[in-house]
Amino acid sequence: MRLLSTSQISKHIGHRKIVNDVSLTINAGEVVAIFGPNGAGKTTLIKILATLLRPTSGRIHIEDIDVIADYAKVRHLMGVVIHEHLAYPEFTPFENLRFFGQMYGVENLDARCKTLLGEVGLSRFIHEPLHIFSRGMTQRFMIAKALLHDPLILLLDEPFSGLDTSARQFVMDRIAQEQEKGKAILITTHNTELGYHIGTRFHFMIDGTLEASTDKDDISEETLLQKYQDRLIDTGTN
Ligand code: ADP
Ligand code: MG
Repeated sequence: MRLLSTSQISKHIGHRKIVNDVSLTINAGEVVAIFGPNGAGKTTLIKILATLLRPTSGRIHIEDIDVIADYAKVRHLMGVVIHEHLAYPEFTPFENLRFFGQMYGVENLDARCKTLLGEVGLSRFIHEPLHIFSRGMTQRFMIAKALLHDPLILLLDEPFSGLDTSARQFVMDRIAQEQEKGKAILITTHNTELGYHIGTRFHFMIDGTLEASTDKDDISEETLLQKYQDRLIDTGTN
């Protein structure tokens, strides 16, 4: 079942095409991994899907909902991890999660916040303000926030960066659990090893263009890595 689809999404900034005619679908139970070098447009694409940025053209649907026209209807269906503060730095992770949880009508909110913060390894810091957090701690918090309202769709921009081994393992395990529950998951990464391990379908994104996808069943990790390196060399982005 198709949960998220885009049709020819583009984003122009000035004369530059940052995202170029991207058509993408993600079905329930899929983990789609987009691999691309710095500057490929991955974060811009995630921001567009997350309704944080308007595309210059193109359409996005979540189930039957037009995401661009009706973004207020879809925000609660998405959990987003991006490397920007989408939270209140002067407040604690507990206070932040409570705030967002109330907005989304999460039940048993206090208990859920505590459990999630425990799961991401932040139990000792739940009453410290976010602005004192290291990059990895902030990333752990963002992951808890993305999962808080049990969203249908997870949009994870470089979810592993800044994480230590145990947090990385938590994220890998959690993505697998969410996939089993039938969620639609999009991750961007330039780590082909982790991306291959967790993904079910792979795209390369180069210079704003999303290339055709390959199913995991049709490619080995070694071949994926080799193809990716070849693409980077071809395009001079290595
Ligand atoms: P990635 O996440 O793949 O590294 P980004 O989506 O962050 O790529 O950026 C893609 C390109 O768009 C980069 O060249 C970046 O400099 C440019 N870009 C992103 N946001 C803006 C902006 N607000 N104004 C101008 N250029 C931008
Ligand atoms: Mg990026």
